[in-house]
Parts: sequence; structure tokens; C-alpha cells
Amino acid sequence: MRTALITGITGQDGSLLAELLLGKGYRVVGLVRRESWYKPNNASHLEGRIEVVFGDMGEGIDIASAVHESRPDEIYNLASQSRPGESWSRAPETLLVNGLGAVRLFEVVRHHHPECRVYHASSSEMYGQVRIAPQNEGTPFNPVNPYAAAKIYAHQMARIYRDSYDLFIASGVLFNHESERRPLHFLTQKVAYGAACAALGVTDSPAINEMGRPIVEHGRLALGNLDISRDWGYAGDFVRAMWLMLQQEKAGDFVIGTGKLHSLRDLCEVAYRSVGLDWHNSVISDPGLVRPLESGQTLADPAKAYRELGWEPTVSFEDMVQRMVMAQIENLQSSSK
Ligand code: NDP
Repeated sequence: MRTALITGITGQDGSLLAELLLGKGYRVVGLVRRESWYKPNNASHLEGRIEVVFGDMGEGIDIASAVHESRPDEIYNLASQSRPGESWSRAPETLLVNGLGAVRLFEVVRHHHPECRVYHASSSEMYGQVRIAPQNEGTPFNPVNPYAAAKIYAHQMARIYRDSYDLFIASGVLFNHESERRPLHFLTQKVAYGAACAALGVTDSPAINEMGRPIVEHGRLALGNLDISRDWGYAGDFVRAMWLMLQQEKAGDFVIGTGKLHSLRDLCEVAYRSVGLDWHNSVISDPGLVRPLESGQTLADPAKAYRELGWEPTVSFEDMVQRMVMAQIENLQSSSK
């Protein structure tokens, strides 16, 4: 039986990956912050099927203990301060967890478990203000926020450790991927939530946004810049790519995305249409929610992943958005009971 250690197992990707690996017969161990485990989280339903080691990716000793205790064959390093917008107000923590945390993990592997295979979660945010489209594994980075800068540090160190010490460290440069498990502060989930509120006639939502206002207030969903476009895929497809990367003969960097660009307006259109409504009546752009400097129109060129991993997405943008809206309707209905 193979053992996988997942950091960030309580997150969207970590919990989906844990399910995938359990289905493949792995022993799955998660590095979890103690305070998070005792709150409802994305991996709560896996209690009893996964093992948990308490620790914080900001603490080198915790990372070493998790690896020594679990003795994994594969490590999936997904833990991060994962909100680019919030990284402005949490820049040192973002670097500590997303950057230094990864390097400390590589150090433990290098010194004590060099046979272990590592997946590291890089991000399309590293491309930032893009000048070349679409982006592949060779496209230069041009970060515009502390999150992206920290991810670049870890991404470069993953390559340096791989080449210098002959370690199996694969980095997935993942473009935006969403699911029913995306936290509410992420854009896609906010739109899904807004559409669900509109469908149920909720004019002032119980959930609040980053400005401390209801996400839906007086029947309106306030978003930032409506002109942005992203390459949005379904998270279930993306965690499969992570696993595939560790099953290859050679480690490397892989861009994972759908290769299709959708605007925020498209997202609103699909979400509200899925409940028979017109988004123009419910969505507004609020300048207070626009980021200081937006990333450009990142669009994946996943040709290498198609060719070498045999990977491709299976869930369409429309299906993904509809699933998210339906899940939000169910959540709102069950919380009002
Ligand atoms: P989530 O925000 O859903 O999950 C983040 C996870 O990291 C949570 O389990 C969180 O635990 C954990 N974490 C945060 N800080 C610490 C810490 N100090 N110590 C230990 N654990 C910590 O992110 P996703 O699942 O969406 O993303 C997974 C990875 O992929 C992340 O690294 C993210 O940056 C990256 N990525 C994601 C993309 C996406 O579109 N989803 C795109 C590109 C990259 P807790 O429950 O305690 O908060």
C-alpha cells in the first residue's frame, strides 16, 4: 500500500485529492492545523479514512515531523495562503507558508527521504501581467502580488532542488480551478452564491464579503472588475493531473488548464441563466472590490500535459458553474431549515 502525505488536505484540492487517492488504495495522511480540524472543513467527511498529523507549514519542525511520522511515498504540497487578493495584507505570512514552507519540505526530503516523490502546487498567478498568450512551461513570469511572488520563489526552488539533488519534485502550474468546495470569498463561488440567492429570493444574504457587507445586499451582488477573463477549470480534473505527474518516469513542470478563456460576464451569464434569470438585473461592479493591480488574461497552453500525462479536462465550464449554483441552493436551503 502506497502512502501519500497531503498538506492542505482541508482545502478544496486537498480533500478532492484525498478522495482520489483513497479510491486508488493509498494510505492518506494529512498535515492539518489543529484549530482547522475541529471546525467543519472540506475533509471532515473523511475522518476515520485518513490519518491526521497536526502542524503548521510556517513551522519547520512541524513539516519535518509530518514527513518522518507518515513516511510517505508521495507528498502533495498544497497548503498555502491561497488568496492572492489577501496576500497584500498578509505578505510576510504568505511568503513564510507558500515560499519558505515549500523549501523546508524539500530540505526534509533531500536529507531524509530522497526517494519520496513530491508534487508542488504552483500557480498561473505567477504569470501576472502577461505579455504572451497562451502561457506554457517556458513563459516568463511577471507577478503582480505577494502571493505570486511567493509562489515563484517556491517554484524556482522546486526546479533547483530537482536538478541539483536529483529529487523527484514535480510542479503543477495550475490555472484557476473551482468546485462546490471553493470557499465563498473566491469569485466563482461568490457568483454561484449570488445566483442561488436570486433563485431563492434572498435579497440580503447571511454571508458577508471582504468589505463586511452582505455578499448579496438589497438584491444586488457586488463584484469588482467585470472585464477580467480567466481560464477556469473543474478542480476534480486538476487533482487527477497532480497524481499523474507523480506517476511519470521523470519529474518536471506542467501547465494545467482548459485552454479556454471565459469572462466574468460569461460566468455571471451561465450562473444566473442556470436558474432562469438575467444577471444584468442582479450584478453590479463596485470600485471598492477592484484589486490594486489585476493579473492579465492568463490562458493555459496545456499541450505538454495532454501529450506527456495523457490528461485532459472532462467537466465543461457550463457544467462546473451549474454544479456550483445547485450546491449553493442546497446549502442555503439546508441552512434555513
Ligand atoms: P484552499 O484555500 O482551498 O486550501 C488551502 C489549504 O492550505 C487549506 O487546507 C489550509 O488549511 C492550508 N493552509 C493554509 N495555511 C496553512 C498553514 N500555515 N499550515 C498548514 N496548512 C495551511 O486552496 P486550494 O485547495 O484551492 O489550492 C490548493 C493549492 O493550489 C494552494 O497551494 C493554492 O495556492 C494552489 N493553487 C490553487 C488554484 C485554484 O484555482 N484553486 C490555482 C493555482 C494554484 P486551513 O483549513 O487550516 O486553512
